[in-house]
Amino acid sequence: MTATRVPGVPVIEDGVLISTNPASGEEAGRVPVSDATAVGAAVERAREAAVWWQRLGFDGRKDRLLRWRSLIVQRIEELAQLTRLEAGKPHDDAIMETVAAVEHLDWAAHHAKRVLGPRRTRTRILLAEHTGHLEYLPYGVVGVIGPWNYPILTPIGPISGALAAGNAVVFKPSEYTPIVGQWLVDTFAEVVPEYPVLQAVHGLGDVGGALCRSGVGKVSFTGSTATGKKVMAACAENLVPVIIEAGGKDALIVDADADVSAAAEAAVWGGMTNAGQTCIGIERVYAVAPVYDQLVKEIVAKAGKLRTGEEIGPITMPRQLDIIREHIDDALAKGGKAVLGGADAVQPPYVAPTVLVDVPADSSEIREETFGPTLTITKVADADEAVRLANDSPYGLGGAVFGKKNAVRIARRLRSGMVAVNSTLTFVGMGNLPFGGVGESGFGRIHGEDGLREFARAKAITVRRARSMLPSTTFERTPAQVKQIVKVVRMLYGRKS
Ligand code: NAD
Repeated sequence: MTATRVPGVPVIEDGVLISTNPASGEEAGRVPVSDATAVGAAVERAREAAVWWQRLGFDGRKDRLLRWRSLIVQRIEELAQLTRLEAGKPHDDAIMETVAAVEHLDWAAHHAKRVLGPRRTRTRILLAEHTGHLEYLPYGVVGVIGPWNYPILTPIGPISGALAAGNAVVFKPSEYTPIVGQWLVDTFAEVVPEYPVLQAVHGLGDVGGALCRSGVGKVSFTGSTATGKKVMAACAENLVPVIIEAGGKDALIVDADADVSAAAEAAVWGGMTNAGQTCIGIERVYAVAPVYDQLVKEIVAKAGKLRTGEEIGPITMPRQLDIIREHIDDALAKGGKAVLGGADAVQPPYVAPTVLVDVPADSSEIREETFGPTLTITKVADADEAVRLANDSPYGLGGAVFGKKNAVRIARRLRSGMVAVNSTLTFVGMGNLPFGGVGESGFGRIHGEDGLREFARAKAITVRRARSMLPSTTFERTPAQVKQIVKVVRMLYGRKS
């Protein structure tokens, strides 16, 4: 369809998606594009696979998932090289991403039985002759739609939760990273050759839309807020439940008793790892007045050492370069000052590390997701002002606090799904912690126990074990029995405390 090739921009020719490196234009690979019929067929195959996969039980699935985990670890270099080729991601960043991904795979495999397996609930006095039973049943087929910025970690989170819960998965990778997505599917097939329990469907946004409308039991979407709203609308047509993991504008707060050098190091890494293309990347820093000057100095010194083409990879999606440029220009036009980088920072396909100060709160650099290696640092009077400004955002994904005495208290007050105290982004690397946002950052959780439960529906069963002493669920109860029930209820719940 497209004749001219721009490095990094996906091209579809004769029904084939061609993926290229954003810096060099080198081809990373080709995959067939799926139309709505092909998506429907994949979901049908997945339905059959899901029955077999569910029958394997928690232990059988755990065995396969752990084998997949080990295979990924054994081929970690191959995967890092492929990610570097396709997304331009520096080698070490790709390694760290894979490390976090296998942590979640391992955790979901080990804990699904405990979190989702059948259990008996505690007896309730009013229905003492019945036992209660709870189990979590898989949806059948789950659709996973992924972004390009963490093409390994972002899909593996929901995929491992969905698979461990007993679902089959149809995965739509970003059109910017289909080859990494296909690699994940192909390696899974090596450990689960019997049925297509994990499949990929490729293409542009319309393929994601088709997946939402294909009859899947649930959709897990990770991507921009704007697309998240479209995904939700498409899923609403058939009342398909969704998880939305969307964008962010995360803040880091530095309190007066913080280790300033550690805060500077974390701000630079949290803001500039993966060239700032991180949903939970630090984009805004709020520092209290006594530590502000030292923090700015140390951040500039540390960020100034990062080299484009080395630690700072290319911007994967070429049109993002315009957004980053617009945000920097807007910040400078409104009175902000660049203490590193700035007006000429955007040199396609790279963006030089940029640190801005005195940026007004209404600037797009403060309000909108920039998704580049830029940081704003704002001086505040105290932690209260820092919290107020940090929370003055429609987004609420992650965040960080540096400090000692009040750091955890400040962390609790941040309007976000996750916060790291005296580090950045750490919460995404712990298999037992849930991940997800509030507000325009989305809803629902992946990872941890909450993440496992997202991929199963609760099923409640009661079993009568004896004759009812307090027969509430029958027309045959007598007035005396009703009186007796009222007496018991008064005794149980009628007192003030
Ligand atoms: P995107 O929204 O452009 O695309 C995400 C996916 O949605 C792609 O696979 C795309 O093909 C698909 N898609 C596009 N239109 C669709 C439609 N109408 N229906 C269904 N699917 C459709 O996002 P992106 O540029 O790939 O990723 C970057 C964004 O993702 C950033 O905003 C980032 O903050 C966010 N992100 C969030 C998280 C998180 O966990 N909260 C993680 C990583 C990235």
